[in-house]
Amino acid sequence: MICKMANEVFDVVIVGSGACGGTAAAHLARAGVNVCVVEGGPKIETRTDFNTHAMPFEFPNRGIPKMRNNKPGFDTERSRGLGGKSMLWNAVAWRFGPRDFEGYTRDGVGYDWPISYKDLAPYYDRIEREVGVCGNLDGLEDLPDGIFLPPAPMKCSDLLIQRGASKLGMKVIHVRKSTLTRPKFGRPACHYCGNCMAGCDVAAKYNSWDGHMRPLMKTGKITLQLDSVVYDLPLNDENRVKAVKFVNRTTGAQGEVRGKIVILAAACVQNVAILLQAKSSRYPTGLANSSGRVGKDFMPHFTGGVEAFLKPLIGKPITNDEGFLDHAYLPSFMHNRKRDYARSWGAQFNYQNRRSVGWARALPGMGEAYKKSIKERYPSYFVFSPYGEKTPDEKSYVDLDPNKKDKFGLPEVRRYLYWNENDMKIFRDMQRQSREILEAAGAEIHQVYEEPRPNHEIGGSIMGKDPRTSVTNSFGQTHDVSNLYTLGGNILPAGSEKNPTHTFMAVSARTAEHLIDRLKKGEA
Ligand SMILES: Cc1cc2nc3c(=O)[nH]c(=O)nc-3n(C[C@H](O)[C@H](O)[C@H](O)COP(=O)(O)OP(=O)(O)OC[C@H]3O[C@@H](n4cnc5c(N)ncnc54)[C@H](O)[C@@H]3O)c2cc1C
Ligand code: SF4
Repeated sequence: MICKMANEVFDVVIVGSGACGGTAAAHLARAGVNVCVVEGGPKIETRTDFNTHAMPFEFPNRGIPKMRNNKPGFDTERSRGLGGKSMLWNAVAWRFGPRDFEGYTRDGVGYDWPISYKDLAPYYDRIEREVGVCGNLDGLEDLPDGIFLPPAPMKCSDLLIQRGASKLGMKVIHVRKSTLTRPKFGRPACHYCGNCMAGCDVAAKYNSWDGHMRPLMKTGKITLQLDSVVYDLPLNDENRVKAVKFVNRTTGAQGEVRGKIVILAAACVQNVAILLQAKSSRYPTGLANSSGRVGKDFMPHFTGGVEAFLKPLIGKPITNDEGFLDHAYLPSFMHNRKRDYARSWGAQFNYQNRRSVGWARALPGMGEAYKKSIKERYPSYFVFSPYGEKTPDEKSYVDLDPNKKDKFGLPEVRRYLYWNENDMKIFRDMQRQSREILEAAGAEIHQVYEEPRPNHEIGGSIMGKDPRTSVTNSFGQTHDVSNLYTLGGNILPAGSEKNPTHTFMAVSARTAEHLIDRLKKGEA
């Protein structure tokens, strides 16, 4: 069965409703642009649909399902649900610093962005004003200040780390999060229940549905096409995307929607997958891939965690101090120090949720004494997670498995990761210095990650000035197809060491403004 949306041609069709798709949809709709958001997953209500406050012992094998009462959503990368990962993120929101946009110029490795911090700063301002980001004004060169709500106070354990780090000449600052520390926008302030990554059931934490799209629904300018997994973007004879083709995630029925402009915002690797699978005689290796760079330059953040027990807190009374998970941050400090690698790392810490005690398995002992030592250590358990910037190399890329298909009949994605020499130098340095910071804070090291672990996904179809070496321009407009844009981690030419979503959203706001301008001029 083919379902066409009443032959309507939208101004803009956006694939994906997460942080990027939701931001772009709201900014466009506010300016009167007619938008259709095609989302692979179902409608999700963060207030009612997640197992936000559930406890492990309520479920077999202590695994808490994300969704309540078998509600659909978050079953695959291609059908997470309205709001995408912004429903479950931890909301840490940094601006990238000026240096992050000039990586190649500064240290001769990787790429520069085609725009500078100054170009993006007004859009960071805009996002902070409209979603509410809490934080402190710290005056740091590499972590520019913004327009903040008051920060959340640090926890006792943060203060111990702050004291330890300062002995080594490093700063620990208040975290910055897209979480309300004061009621605003008709949403309440955070009540520090510590369940942010299980779906905030009061929407104190930003998600793209409550924070961006929902308030704009009354304009009638946003049409939601839910449960629709996009699999192809066919072209017309003028080399323009003529339709967005999708398959219904439950019935398998096919459909399509048309727009003057199409924005692919299905998250980093899925954006790349859609480009790679949308082959045609004009683009036999993937849509908008005349450069051959679609799938290349994959460079996720990597982390090298250390688990520890803070000795001053061992045996102390158990207090309710989960807060909104991490309240503090150790920003990168190494740019002005002697080091043998390009780029840098910074550390997020203390975001462990205390509902499970998996760490206890690695403790020695048996019986009564074992139970006692778990109880004593419970208030002192601490996770320290430095995040490093990966630099690009030809061995790190994304492609499609020619032999395996997912449940929608689409090729499965393969991620190839190689930790190059620079990555490993950062990793070893973050391991060494993390230990030193923890020891200076009076910690007993429990476990250390032996190798880097990938995290936030970056790269795969990067922006740049040269169409021979990049896939899009700084607006995410593909060099090859003028009405095709893509937003998300895939277009970042360098990821910094900082959590990237605030930057994805600022780029999305900038692209929305560019599109409003194009549409006004009748260029689309
Ligand atoms: C537990 C957790 C904690 C995190 N914490 C942080 C943090 O503290 N700070 C930070 O910066 N980042 C964090 N992140 C990452 C952050 O959530 C993502 O960077 C951000 O959501 C990416 O936005 P996006 O719009 O590109 O993709 P998403 O938010 O993932 O949205 C993509 C949407 O596209 C849909 N989609 C995918 N494929 C298709 C298709 N073929 N057809 C139709 N729809 C499709 C998906 O269903 C999804 O809804 C965290 C992520 C998780 C999971
Ligand atoms: S700690 Fe705050 S932001 Fe996190 S889930 Fe609870 S109320 Fe929401």
